[in-house]
Amino acid sequence: MDTDVIISGGGLNGLTLALALSHGGLRVSLADPSPLTAETADFDGRSYALAAASCNLLRAIGVWGALAERAQPILGIKVSDGRAGEGPSPLHLAFDHAELEEGPMGHMVEDRHLRPVLVAAARAAERVTLLPGRSVEDHTPDATGVTVRLDDGTTLRASVLVACDGRNSPTGARAGIRRTGWSYGQHGMVAAISHERDHGGIAHQLFMPEGPLAILPLRGNRSSIVWSERSERAAVVNALPEDAYLALLRPRFGDFLGEIALEGARYTYPLMLSLANSMIGPRLALVGDAAHRLHPIAGQGLNAGVKDVATLTEVLVEAHRRGENIGNADVLARYERWRRFDVAALAVATDGFNRLFSNDNPLLRLARDVGLAAVNAVPGLRRGFMREAAGLTGDRPRLLAGRPL
Ligand SMILES: Cc1cc2nc3c(=O)[nH]c(=O)nc-3n(C[C@H](O)[C@H](O)[C@H](O)COP(=O)(O)OP(=O)(O)OC[C@H]3O[C@@H](n4cnc5c(N)ncnc54)[C@H](O)[C@@H]3O)c2cc1C
Repeated sequence: MDTDVIISGGGLNGLTLALALSHGGLRVSLADPSPLTAETADFDGRSYALAAASCNLLRAIGVWGALAERAQPILGIKVSDGRAGEGPSPLHLAFDHAELEEGPMGHMVEDRHLRPVLVAAARAAERVTLLPGRSVEDHTPDATGVTVRLDDGTTLRASVLVACDGRNSPTGARAGIRRTGWSYGQHGMVAAISHERDHGGIAHQLFMPEGPLAILPLRGNRSSIVWSERSERAAVVNALPEDAYLALLRPRFGDFLGEIALEGARYTYPLMLSLANSMIGPRLALVGDAAHRLHPIAGQGLNAGVKDVATLTEVLVEAHRRGENIGNADVLARYERWRRFDVAALAVATDGFNRLFSNDNPLLRLARDVGLAAVNAVPGLRRGFMREAAGLTGDRPRLLAGRPL
């Protein structure tokens, strides 16, 4: 074998997986068509809400030190219902990290910091070979391993191939893995906003009939917004000049942070649910968006990918230590069994939340307001939701629980 694991795709999940596997003693080759540079780019508005459990994994693989001082702790989450111009409903749900002994529920990390730190660590890692500017074109599984052909004609042999190649997963498609899902007919508009007042580390999820608006704290007096709107409208709004864009945003955003201004570029992303019908195939495992692309409503997209990474790493490293062939069907089936239910439950929850909150039916509005207020009134329930959002519940792989592999 040339290596133990070949990873197709060097996005955030592919890079994190390469580091985690190498940390567990496995040899990894990772191919991506991009140059995989470690240079810090200009701020492009993209940022991620990393749950406390995901931060544990980044700590375990040795990259948290380089990120910690640039990450913004999430000290509270406030969820409320609203309509543009009316401000949030008085019935709301508020989470405060003081109710969690583990500390902040998570951290906001900007893409321009996270990606270069992962690339630099992967470059320096002993057992990781990066293949930038190369894509995986074909793979052929057999009884002992998998042969992978790159676009420059090179072939590589490994025990298992992992597809981290994003929401359309060309590798998964080639293996005949079908997908289930639909478009939400919504686009997420992403931008960074600077504001007059301190956000106090509080993340806000505001539900509007057109779609949710998340206001997520970044370092300094800045926040990242994910503003979901119906697709046709999002295209129009995002193309507006800055003043007109802000004039539409202000009544939704409210004035609790004082005067607001745009910082840097604005992006839009189509929002969809796309689930692979299986997370494994012959000598193949799917990780991250390749396995599941979710509505960003609960900010769980990347956290779900990090859970895949932690689970697959634990399964493969344990199999390797026991002397098993890590690409065998029974080894990969352990990964699928461990992740499948959680992924399906998260897909149902994010999909249901979006449907329940993205409409203006007065009865539904009353029901959800009362629901939010009811959860808020019961400390045990509130704490349960918080632990769930922080990724601190369930049968967690060791890397998420802060335990060594
Ligand atoms: C509006 C929006 C807001 C979001 N907010 C959050 C948030 O707050 N918190 C959160 O946790 N998540 C969030 N997410 C989700 C998060 O961005 C994704 O889950 C995550 O970036 C997916 O990473 P990935 O590595 O799986 O896939 P990708 O980032 O899509 O990477 C796939 C990689 O595969 C490579 N590739 C493709 N084909 C090949 C091939 N043939 N060979 C080799 N390489 C290939 C590509 O070049 C690419 O680098 C959000 C998403 C959206 C749309």
